[in-house]
Amino acid sequence: MASSQIKALRGMKDVLPSESHRWHYLESKVRETLNAYSFDEIRTPIMESTHLFARSIGEVTDIVEKEMYTFSDRNDESITLRPEGTAGVVRAVEENGLTANGQQQKLWYTGPMFRYERPQKGRYRQFHQIGVEVFGVQTADADAELLIMLARLWSALGLQNAVTLQINSIGTLEARNAYKAALVTYLESHLESLDEDSQKRLQTNPLRILDSKSSETQAVLVDAPKMNDYLDQESKAHFETLKQYLDKAGVAYEVNPLLVRGLDYYSRTVFEWVTDQLGAQGTVCGGGRYDGLVEQMGGKPTPAVGFAMGNERLLLLLETLNLFPEEIDTTPDVFIALMGESAQAEGIQLAEEVRRGNADWRIHMHLGGGSFKSQMKKADKSGASLLLILGENELLEGKVVLKYLREDKPQLSLDRSELVQHLHSLIV
Ligand code: ATP
Ligand code: MG
Repeated sequence: MASSQIKALRGMKDVLPSESHRWHYLESKVRETLNAYSFDEIRTPIMESTHLFARSIGEVTDIVEKEMYTFSDRNDESITLRPEGTAGVVRAVEENGLTANGQQQKLWYTGPMFRYERPQKGRYRQFHQIGVEVFGVQTADADAELLIMLARLWSALGLQNAVTLQINSIGTLEARNAYKAALVTYLESHLESLDEDSQKRLQTNPLRILDSKSSETQAVLVDAPKMNDYLDQESKAHFETLKQYLDKAGVAYEVNPLLVRGLDYYSRTVFEWVTDQLGAQGTVCGGGRYDGLVEQMGGKPTPAVGFAMGNERLLLLLETLNLFPEEIDTTPDVFIALMGESAQAEGIQLAEEVRRGNADWRIHMHLGGGSFKSQMKKADKSGASLLLILGENELLEGKVVLKYLREDKPQLSLDRSELVQHLHSLIV
């Protein structure tokens, strides 16, 4: 490999043909599940105005402070590659008036997200999420339905014992502010025991200290004031109702009073599905309620709740636990070999004829010419069970030779007109 060869950017991965069927598997399970809950897909651009993310995610979050891919376009406008999906969906819903008459919307999206992070297992700079946003429902049934749906999805994937659900309520903005003040007062009296990051966050985003990875900081947090004691009555009732719905549905959860999530826009319910199988990158899905965001973005007050799951982490988990079904067979059913120049042109017609016979058959017509011997070798290597040969003689006689590549049966010389019918009896 020449040293000047251009490589993919750090933290950005190719999905090779040998892996893409695994992506299809995950995506199709998710689609099936979303469909069963009557979600509709929305697709938004990968790039948005930088303001959109700064305003929605929050200025003092990890994402906005240090993870965004932001650049000026040729017109000197500040553009950002989306680091997450909610901001764009909220913008699209508002811009297109999807909730203008108070309609509810149940939307999902999928696609690449971009964050400038230190790449490691389960953490990339381009990664993919599948996410869901429900607009226009204030009540806890919406939160519950999302979690019940996710539990159903994990079961469909065989992951029901590999992930656990953590939930918390972070109340309204006012409740959170009161809690923040109490937390800051407490932590200020333990300043010297906090890790450096947390000391900084005390001024900027104190709630984030709750999910600090430092064990000293965690030790200080044991006796810290708890969000639950600061919840407003309505948030408390909302959380209780959610827990009742989950209990009734048999969805197990753990209340984690330290769970806050990284983005500013959450309110009331927050949740994460975590696994202990992926090291530090243990969160496979996270979400929550964001009742204030739409209004904050300039829309009519619209309650909302959603989540996003990380495809790469789920794929890693499925792989670790050996949960992929048998590899999908992508060997061709039929290999077509062409001998001689006039057969080349007619071969293309023949291949089309066969493909019209059944859209599910995989037909590999040999491309690029070459000797009979080399085409036979390729046919064998392709794994195809049937070989069609079209040469000068067959061409003149309107025939095609059919050879069994994996069975000890004599070859046949078939009329072109009866070929497709014959294949129907051979390809199951
Ligand atoms: P983490 O704490 O691991 O950085 P996060 O809180 O930043 O996660 P979210 O913004 O909630 O993550 O994104 C939802 C999901 O997307 C995560 O739970 C994770 O599965 C996935 N995810 C987030 N960042 C990355 C990344 N850089 N590479 C791969 N997956 C990611
Ligand atoms: Mg992160």
